[in-house]
Order: sequence, then structure tokens, then C-alpha cells
Amino acid sequence: SEWWALKELYAKGLLFKDFRISPYCPRCGTTLSAHEVAQGYREIEDFSIYVKFKVEGKDEYFLVWTTTPWTLPANEYLAVNPDFNYILVNYKGEKLWIVEERAKTVLKRYEVLDSRPGKSFVGTRYEQLVPFLKTRAGMYVVDGNFVTKEDGSGIVHIAPAFGSDDYSVMKKEKGELYVTVNESGKISLDSPWKGLDVQVASDQIIEYLRKGGKLLKTEKATHSYPFCWRCDTRLIYYPVESWYIGVSKAKDQIVKYNQNVHWNPEYIRDGRFGNFLNEGKDWALSRNRFWGTPLPIWTCEDGHVFIPGSKKELTDRAFFIPENFELHRPMVDQIKVKCNECGKEMKREPYPIDTWFDSGSAFFAQFHYPFENIELFSENSPVDFISEAMDQTRGWFYSMHVISSLLFQRNAYDNVVVMEFVMNSKGEKMSKSRGDTVDPLQLIEKIGTDSLRLFFFQGPPWKPKRFTEEGAVEFSRKLLGTIYNSYLLFSTNARLDHWEPKEETIISNLDRWIYDRNNECVSSVIKHMDEYNPHLALDDIRELVLDLSQWYLRLS
Ligand SMILES: [Zn+2]
Ligand SMILES: [Zn+2]
Repeated sequence: SEWWALKELYAKGLLFKDFRISPYCPRCGTTLSAHEVAQGYREIEDFSIYVKFKVEGKDEYFLVWTTTPWTLPANEYLAVNPDFNYILVNYKGEKLWIVEERAKTVLKRYEVLDSRPGKSFVGTRYEQLVPFLKTRAGMYVVDGNFVTKEDGSGIVHIAPAFGSDDYSVMKKEKGELYVTVNESGKISLDSPWKGLDVQVASDQIIEYLRKGGKLLKTEKATHSYPFCWRCDTRLIYYPVESWYIGVSKAKDQIVKYNQNVHWNPEYIRDGRFGNFLNEGKDWALSRNRFWGTPLPIWTCEDGHVFIPGSKKELTDRAFFIPENFELHRPMVDQIKVKCNECGKEMKREPYPIDTWFDSGSAFFAQFHYPFENIELFSENSPVDFISEAMDQTRGWFYSMHVISSLLFQRNAYDNVVVMEFVMNSKGEKMSKSRGDTVDPLQLIEKIGTDSLRLFFFQGPPWKPKRFTEEGAVEFSRKLLGTIYNSYLLFSTNARLDHWEPKEETIISNLDRWIYDRNNECVSSVIKHMDEYNPHLALDDIRELVLDLSQWYLRLS
């Protein structure tokens, strides 16, 4: 089913190969898609540095700010914003260029010597800061509208291999791509830092700059940085060839179909989820890993492409099929296929795909659509209801919605209940190291399934819940205990009186009242459950139980 989907996407021009600077986990050795990156942001304290690039033939420096010192050996350009004004200042006896608005914050005290618009610097040559790379390209100032004055110095260091703006600059300037780091995130450039992990190299490069008098100052700043959601390694931006799903091309439909979905809570639709859809980033689909659903794309050396949409389409075209053939690696790479156009042998693109494409295909792949169950699929599509935690706005909610929008031109599900996490008694994330995690099976053994379920039905599912065992027991004692005691009172008396249930036994106004209350509760619970508000349904049941025990039984 997934191969069929990928073939469809290719036919629609929504599956293509591209070379991009991508978020990359050096430990897993693979790129991550935008929605995977979005799952792994953490606040960290980091060094940022201000360094001095010497203007060629002059006793002046461009002051440059960076948070990734390990990219400095790969510097190829400096970028200024053509519309900003820059000033030359005398700072402790040195002449530095900096954007006007940032001088006060960065330098505090200085004397202004000169002032020029950003565009006047374009083409100005400067000396290499960390001179280990033998460059033939660059080493001059370019204009960049992406340069801001929110932080830094208004002059941006450009290392084309390690940033997407940087890469675009290099393309525009027809420069060269220098990759100074290998695929394991270690410095590969012949330099004192060769073989070091980039984060370790950063510290040593700062020391190198300090000793060489090229460092103006270091700052510690807290900022949000992406980590690998799978292994918790700090991500880097790295040049990789990948297959992409063209989300950006279909963004408008994807955004539109989201309006058909009933979100609980409602604000997620145009907030956290809608905002993310609006970014419309292309989906990096291929992975540099071994295991996973293989990308079903075979190419020949002339660049012709064959995408089988099923196992049969592949085996029909094959002139060699290994024994016990199945669709995963290594078998799938042993099958031999000839190009229909040029007759040469074709090779499979050596990637598996993002596992989020697997889970995102659940709504049609579970029926083995379109090979079987076509009617069953159409009866069950869109899916009535799904529920998962908040983080899935970048995970499963996202992947299903995008795939359905692209393949079926509609939403994948009609209703979503977004849940928040269960916290410890202080409202913090439970942690294994603090020892405050809860084993649900042990807990069920101890306090019972109903008590635990009841606890989770309290309050909106999309609000974080503070869990304590005592709290769960107490809540259940109040509600289930009251129901049980009411029943006990009734059954004891009924037994003594030899009471038998009969048709229509309403005899008093009190009976009539509790009968009405019960009907009222039933319809209200149905309404709340239809609107995916289980906590409101529970509130109704609680009130009914109170009316029963505090009024009906006492007055009977
Ligand atoms: Zn990783
Ligand atoms: Zn060919």
C-alpha cells in the first residue's frame, strides 16, 4: 500500500530528489524531516562568540557573531544587509565595523569613526579567519536580506555546507561547497581539530582564536536548539542528497483540509497544528539507515526512473529474483531490473523511508488499499476519531493529514482529541532518574482499573494531569464508593422486602424526579461523548450520583 502511495506521489510530481542542507543527526548518520526536528527542541546554554575578520589591505575588521565556531574553518563569505547602516568604531584601539543598532549592546563604549550603508561593502575582500581550508572561492562580502539586527553584529559568517541561507548564497555567487566535517559529525579538514567531534572542536577553535587575538568576546546565551528525537544527539545542518515529498507545492490544500477537522481542544487547529502546516516545509523522506520500508525507486545510469507500485509490478519487471524474496533489505537490493528505456541495469536508491510515512499511511494501509477492501476503506474514510498526545501535532497527526491531503484530497480523520502528559504530584515531567515514574500495571493491580480510568476522565484530556496514587484512590472512593454504598442500601432492603422489579413503578414525585434526572443525564452524557468531551460526561454522572445518594435515598 505504501509503495502504491509513493508511486502516486511521484506521478503527481510530489516526490523528488534534491540536494539540500538538512538537519542531520551525526550519531544516527541520517537526516531528519522538519516534523521530526520540531519534536526535539530543547533550551540549552551555549557559547556564542564575536570574532574579527580583517579587511584586506586595511587596518579594519568586520565584527562577526556566531554560535557555531566549528563552522568557521569553512567560512566562504560574509553577508551584510544592504539596507542597514554600519559604523566603524574605535574600540580599545581597534577599528571594527558593526551594524549601528547593535553597537551599544555589544561594545558598550566606543568612538564612531565612520558610517556607511551595507550595500557599499558588497565585494569588499577580507582575510581568512581560520586559514586551513585552501579556498579558491569567496572571501568577499555579499548582500543578504536574511541578515537581521535582532542579535549579533549585523554581519553574518557564511559557511555554505552548514546552513540553507549559506548554501543559497554560495549558489548565487557560483562558489564552491567545502564540507569540512564528515558524516559522523567529526572535523575532516586538515587542521589541528581533525577527527574531533564538532562540539569539542568548537571549544578548541575558540581557544585558537583567543590566542591569535581574533576573538573579541564570548557570551553565554540560552537558546532553543534541536536534538535528535531518537537518540538525543545535538543535530547539525549538513549537505545531503535526499528524496522529498513536495509539501510546499500542496500547502494550500493541506491547510484547507485541516479546516474540516474537529479538534479538541479547538485552538490546536489553527494554533500549534495550523501554524506548523503553514510553514509548508517539504518532507525529507529518505533515510541513511539500513532498516525500514525501502524506497521503491530504481534508477539507471542514464537517470531513468522505475517506481513499482506493488510487489507484482516489481517482480514482473525483474530478470533475477533471489530465493525467498521479500520486500525488505537485503533481499530487495538483490533483485535485478532492466531499464525499459535504455535496457541498462537499474539500481534501487539505497534508502529506506521515514517511519512516520509508515504510521501516517495507517488509515489506508491497514485495509491493504487499493489492492483489497476498497469499499471498506471508503466506508471508513475519513476515520471518525483519533487520539494521541500533544507532541503528535508534529508526528502522527501531521503525517496522516499530509498523506491524506496529497493522495485523497481530503482530511484523514474527522475528530481528534489531543492529550497532554501525565505529570508527577508537583506538575513536573516524571523521570526515571528521580524515581517518580509510575508502572501502570502495578498500579492497576493495587487500586483497580476503574479507579485509574476514573482519574484520567477528570478534567479536559488536553490539560496536564498531576498524578498521585492517593488522589486517584480518593477520587474513586468518593464516586465509586458512593455508587456501591447506594446499591448496597437498596439491595439489602430489597432482599428483606422480597422486592421484585415491575413495569412502570413510578409512584411518587420523588421517583419521578430521579427518573427524569436519569434521562437527563443519559442524553447529556451522549451529547458530551459525541462532542468528544468525556470529562464533561463524567461531571454529569457525578452529579447524578450525588442527587441519588444525598437527596433521593435520604428522602425516600
Ligand atoms: Zn540520532
Ligand atoms: Zn535507462
